[in-house]
Amino acid sequence: MEVLKNRVVGVTYVLRDGKGEELERREEGEPFYYLHGHGNIIPGLENTLSGFEEGDEFDVEFDPEDAYGDYNPNLQQRVSKDEFPDDFDLKPGLPIQLIPEEGGAGMVFFIKEVAGDQVILDGNAPLAGKRLHFTGRVVEIREATEEEIEHGHAHTGEHHHH
Ligand code: ZN
Repeated sequence: MEVLKNRVVGVTYVLRDGKGEELERREEGEPFYYLHGHGNIIPGLENTLSGFEEGDEFDVEFDPEDAYGDYNPNLQQRVSKDEFPDDFDLKPGLPIQLIPEEGGAGMVFFIKEVAGDQVILDGNAPLAGKRLHFTGRVVEIREATEEEIEHGHAHTGEHHHH
């Protein structure tokens, strides 16, 4: 069975940035599962894996435009610490959803740093602007269920709650 649209694919991988520093690792026994052809993973990797068979290995590197996009400095915002509850743990990397006063869906920002009484938030994805290097292997391929296709994501693995 090969990797095609509407199949669920399990991969193990090591992700490194352009300087070779390891960012993420998924080992045998806890592969990462996604639904192919639905934009669940970065475009570069989804294109690479099309047509792969179980056991096939990959070693690929992507520019930001095929990964999480370029870093946009205009997406930084400074917010006063007073805007957060006193017991709020302002940890760098923590995602925060800012809801606009006029309503609407809002946007996810990440805490970049705390500088004095200011919190610097960043609307870029944490890996935006980085070259990404993946080495890994396809460990499982199966047909997706109708429900998975309807939802646009795999129901195997984590990140699944309705
Ligand atoms: Zn679902």
